[in-house]
Order: sequence, then C-alpha cells, then structure tokens
Amino acid sequence: MDEERLITKLIKTYGTNDPLAIAEQKNILVLFEPLGKNIWGYFSSAHRIPIIHINEKLNEFERTFTAAHELGHSLLHAKLNTPFLRKNTLISVDRIEQEANRFAIKLLIGNAKPEQGETVKFFLLRCGIPEWLHVYFNVDEQPEGKKNWSAFWKDEQSFWGC
Ligand SMILES: [Zn+2]
Repeated sequence: MDEERLITKLIKTYGTNDPLAIAEQKNILVLFEPLGKNIWGYFSSAHRIPIIHINEKLNEFERTFTAAHELGHSLLHAKLNTPFLRKNTLISVDRIEQEANRFAIKLLIGNAKPEQGETVKFFLLRCGIPEWLHVYFNVDEQPEGKKNWSAFWKDEQSFWGC
C-alpha cells in the first residue's frame, strides 16, 4: 500500500489524524521519558509490545511530530531496526528518516487541502508544520535533477551544529 493510501485509510479507520490517538487505538504504548538533550524519540518492540518513546522535554508540536514520525516507522519500517530520532540528526540523508518525516507531515496535514492560489509553504504553515520541516514534503515527487539533498544537508548540518 502506498503512503498516501495508508494515511487516508488510517484517518478513516481511526477517525483522527492525531498520531497519539491513533497509537492508542492501535495498542501502541506511548511513553514520555527523560531521553536527554539530543534524542526526540524512538520506536521499540519488546516482547511484541510496540512502544513509542518520546522525550518528555519536547513541546507539544515536537511531541506530536515525534509520535507521527515513530508511527511512520512502525507502519512503514516494521522490519527494520529503527534508528533513533536524534535532534541533531533529524535532518538526515537517511532515506528511512526522510520517509518517516514525510509520513509524519502528511499525517499531520490530514484531510486539509491547499486553498486556491495558496503556496505549499503557506499551506504547510497553516497545517502547523514549521518551515524547517518543509523540505521533507514531496521529497520523491521532485524531478530527479532537482534532488540536490547533499548540498542542502551540508548547510543544514552546519546550521544544526552536528
Ligand atoms: Zn526516525
């Protein structure tokens, strides 16, 4: 199932695009824990109990985004050993992380649609997605020649100091 259909189905099945509410209904345990300064969250599955761990220091948006990101891992990458979501490497060239971030953004957009003439930037901002995450939107829908991620990441990485 592709990502768009998966998200549409999730929202329809659970009647919400709130990742915390979806996790609860899917019997995924969500724990808010002290995870230090650099880790936003991670997904684990111990004894077949899926758990989303979220850093308790995050603000409300960051908690929601992390829950959506980890929910993405649990649905898209269930068989992979999910990498930790570290604050400083949240912007990562890692395809898995890109997919989880794109999933999270699309889930948080939910059923919202751009208004006529609205730019992607304003649409995403209206959906509560901060500008620094916009780069994850439609990553794969850009023409091949425009995927100049490494240059972008380099700048971003120096910005994030990692
Ligand atoms: Zn991740």
